[in-house]
Amino acid sequence: MGNLTGRVAIVTGAGRGIGAATAKRLAADGAAVAVIDLREADTAETVAAIQQAGGTAVGIGCDVSQADQVQQAVKKVADDFGHIDILVNNAGVIRDNLLFKMTESDWDTVINVHLKGAFLCSKAVQSYMVNQKYGKIVNTSSTSALGNRGQANYSAAKMGLQGFTRTLAIELGPFNINVNAVAPGFIDTEMTKATAERVGADPEQFKKMAAEQIPLRRVGKPEDIANVVAFLVSEDSSYVSGQVIYIAGGPR
Ligand code: NAP
Repeated sequence: MGNLTGRVAIVTGAGRGIGAATAKRLAADGAAVAVIDLREADTAETVAAIQQAGGTAVGIGCDVSQADQVQQAVKKVADDFGHIDILVNNAGVIRDNLLFKMTESDWDTVINVHLKGAFLCSKAVQSYMVNQKYGKIVNTSSTSALGNRGQANYSAAKMGLQGFTRTLAIELGPFNINVNAVAPGFIDTEMTKATAERVGADPEQFKKMAAEQIPLRRVGKPEDIANVVAFLVSEDSSYVSGQVIYIAGGPR
């Protein structure tokens, strides 16, 4: 039995990358996991991996920036499993560009998926968590919150998530709900591969160059983030709330 046996978790953007690693880790720790991604078909691989390993998972297609879809998805999880204990707001997109080239649509898409998506999902699950006086919410910020050329939209969203995290920790703490954030640095996923391609770099060379700037001299793996999320939703961190943990192979 893992330490999350009996718990029900929602992980958004869990079709691949950090979200998939997190969903698999929480399932390995015993939680039943709702694997959410834009399209239900995109969740199939993660769900199959969890089930093949003996875990419990359901795949749900949902755009986290759309209130009606979020409400339906959360209701389905509650109907299927009876309760919701853990929410990991991980879904994300990038629309990088320098400010003078960034379109209004680039801005809105990124803010809507990261920031509004975390708001909508947290709002939808909080009533279940408040009623049962138990819950864990983990938001996904980024080292880009501290500023990153070409990412005005993403940086604003990721720093916004830090304020959101601290505020929810204050509001939901009295109901025994812990709210924290992880702030990954360079993690080897499709997202960082897309960044390499956008700047015209070979993805492997891009990773090598990034690793040279990182104190631990390697880029991160999705599991490096999943491990910390697993800690933040476990009882080992039950007195930790409102914190942002940078996971970047160095201070930032
Ligand atoms: P990824 O490989 O691109 O995975 C993101 C997942 O989110 C994709 O499956 C994507 O689906 C899904 N998604 C996008 N928009 C969605 C929406 N509106 N509703 C539901 N799902 C949606 O990215 P990742 O690298 O694993 O990143 C995961 C999180 O970590 C993101 O919040 C990202 O900003 C953050 N992060 C990543 C890094 C890094 O270096 N990789 C660093 C710091 C923070 P589609 O494939 O259909 O788009």
